Amino acid sequence: MENVVIIGSGCAGWTAALYAARANLKPLLLTGEQPGGLLTTTSIVENYPGFPEGIDGTELMMRMQKQAERFGAQTRYAVKVTKVDFSKPPFKLWLDDAVIETKTVIIATGASHRHLGLKSEDLLERKGVTYCATCDGALAMFRNKPLVVVGGGDTACEEATHLTHFASKVYLVHRRDELRASKIMADRALSDPKIQPVWDSIVTDIYDVSKDMVTGVQVKNLKTGVTSELPCAGVFVAIGQTPSTGLFKGQIEMDADGYILCKKGTYTSVPGVFAAGDCVDRVYRQAVTAAGTGCAAAIDVERYLATHHA
Ligand code: NAP
Repeated sequence: MENVVIIGSGCAGWTAALYAARANLKPLLLTGEQPGGLLTTTSIVENYPGFPEGIDGTELMMRMQKQAERFGAQTRYAVKVTKVDFSKPPFKLWLDDAVIETKTVIIATGASHRHLGLKSEDLLERKGVTYCATCDGALAMFRNKPLVVVGGGDTACEEATHLTHFASKVYLVHRRDELRASKIMADRALSDPKIQPVWDSIVTDIYDVSKDMVTGVQVKNLKTGVTSELPCAGVFVAIGQTPSTGLFKGQIEMDADGYILCKKGTYTSVPGVFAAGDCVDRVYRQAVTAAGTGCAAAIDVERYLATHHA
């Protein structure tokens, strides 16, 4: 029987593991299939306090893991949880090869990339359609070619700026005429001579499924209704995230978009089950806020166990 199982290995998960380990709870952290979470798909993180020069996203996550393990956190890699039962304690978690019983759970499953919802997008994924410029931008297929980034947030601006190192030109296709990104990221992208914004527009199709590669996109201007084509070798979709909470549907309360609803602090609707990070937070979604709620979840678990399992 575990004291606390933490599901997810992003900033929230590792910070929860650090605090729970230092409370002598010997937490078990299940990394999930993307150890380190979404931050490992970013390049330099410039806004995590304590790193004035910025820090590589993967490096930051590895440091968090090392710090948590130093105090006794246990890690199981790339473990997919297939089912959970939170109906009564002890809670049960089914893995591919085992069933774990635990007194408490911290859900820190984060979020995954949102898709445009086009059939051609699915068919051309990894053949020119990607969700991570940091991971794929340097591939030979994208070098010295025009590329398209879709979205208007920090991720889209960061990806567009990153891609200017490889691309001949980057079209930034955004559905409005104003970026959502923070001013510093937006200014950086819009002042780059290689980035051409395509305002008020959405991507309605990606070519060319018959060639099994990306050759261009069809874009529709939402104000004029006019449809046009942009030639490109790659489409980088950066339109935000959806919470990775499908596994918990019907077990704990969530809102219509799948964000977990916490009542007090990190307490979910099930006593003994706590949640932290991007799977809860639709507002801030920062590495440092995820780390903060991970810390809070571990403190809530410690107090819960002291009261219920003394
Ligand atoms: P986001 O802020 O939610 O922005 C998503 C963008 O995609 C918005 O511009 C949105 O348009 C657009 N969009 C959403 N659905 C769309 C659709 N179906 N079709 C076309 N466009 C669509 O997501 P994000 O940029 O991934 O950022 C997520 C969080 O991470 C934010 O809090 C951000 O500040 C943070 N972040 C920080 C850094 C950094 O500081 N280094 C880097 C990356 C991300 P609208 O604007 O019209 O809604």
